[in-house]
Amino acid sequence: MFDNYQFTASERFMRYVQVDTQSDPLSNTYPTTEKQKNLSKVLVEELKQVGVKDAEMDEFGYVYATIPSNTNKEVPVICFCAHVDTAPDASGTGVKPILHKNYKGQDIVLPNDKNQVLQKAHFPYMEKLIGHDIITASGTTLLGSDDKAGVAEIMDAANFLITHPEVKHGTIKILFTPDEEVGKGTAKVDLQKLSADYGYTLDGGEAGSLEDETFSADGVQIVIHGVITHPGYAKGKMVNALKIAADILSSLPRAELSPETTDGKQGFIHPVRVDGIAEKVTIDFIIRDFVTEGLKKKEDFLLNVVEMVMENYPTASFEFNVQEQYRNMKEILDQHQQVVNYAKEAINRSGLQLKMESIRGGTDGSRLSFMGLPCPNLFAGEQAIHSKLEFISVQDMNKAVETIVHIAKIWEEKS
Ligand SMILES: [Zn+2]
Repeated sequence: MFDNYQFTASERFMRYVQVDTQSDPLSNTYPTTEKQKNLSKVLVEELKQVGVKDAEMDEFGYVYATIPSNTNKEVPVICFCAHVDTAPDASGTGVKPILHKNYKGQDIVLPNDKNQVLQKAHFPYMEKLIGHDIITASGTTLLGSDDKAGVAEIMDAANFLITHPEVKHGTIKILFTPDEEVGKGTAKVDLQKLSADYGYTLDGGEAGSLEDETFSADGVQIVIHGVITHPGYAKGKMVNALKIAADILSSLPRAELSPETTDGKQGFIHPVRVDGIAEKVTIDFIIRDFVTEGLKKKEDFLLNVVEMVMENYPTASFEFNVQEQYRNMKEILDQHQQVVNYAKEAINRSGLQLKMESIRGGTDGSRLSFMGLPCPNLFAGEQAIHSKLEFISVQDMNKAVETIVHIAKIWEEKS
């Protein structure tokens, strides 16, 4: 199906990464940075050039577009989604993408900072890319494959579907979002307007990987109220909330239940912020587990730690507040098994080895899934994301394009 197709994903990608779209965690505007719209506008223009007539950007920088159905069958509406912003962790200004053709397995020294060296010892995936064409940044910025790879792949898939009307598919929706990296990617999304039944984010790593599981996540805030008096006359009266907070933190387990000592399917209790004075201290925690009931167990454990410490301070008091953050998308995806199954089949048809993965974090896909758009995450080829050493294989990107097209086709076939 793709033998004579001239893929455009990498050429698009090389252009998109040069547009600075860094989002800003401290901003209260939507989008958090106006410059993200610079790429969204380009995408709307290019979609129109490809023939996607209704492509538009809204005031918040979201791009919505439709590839009309070309079949008589009733097929669920499928959306492909990627985010335009790049992470605040490394500069996204003045990105200079470099194409390294026919990679031979050597270390790659990035030209503008010779200390930035891509080594197979650190990135074993490079071994699999021998013979591929690899794109890197120049050493002073991130590359932005997270998630401009996904953006470019969806754009190329749109180009393929429109120029290959013999490939039958239902209505395909395209959604590009801002602010994913600062946790606000779905804040202003209009799912009514999108009107899709199922979605796929393209925001994963290694070719063939498919993520259908994320953490479930709560936040816990503990507020400790001490007893305050003039320090010169405090004997027998003062209770210092800072010292209580220190006791609580030092009572937390270290060898287990911590991010720094867990991996795989293990969750954790993680203090992220302490704020306070002798009178009153606030401690913020994030609680993570793949099983939602596991969150409650961890919260009970934490409450127990706090109560034990507080027994030593009978005149002090505390509040313990749990706030839901997001939930494991598998809870939703298990109710719509064809979404993941068709993606698995599409990966096989693209000639790739399927690799199921769990995300030790949340994604826009997990939020979208719970907002009514069941949405696993497909590979986009991104490697070493959020760093100056970011890299991506052109051939992996093309495989992602093929996978998108196969998914569109499979939904039509099975409807
Ligand atoms: Zn991403």
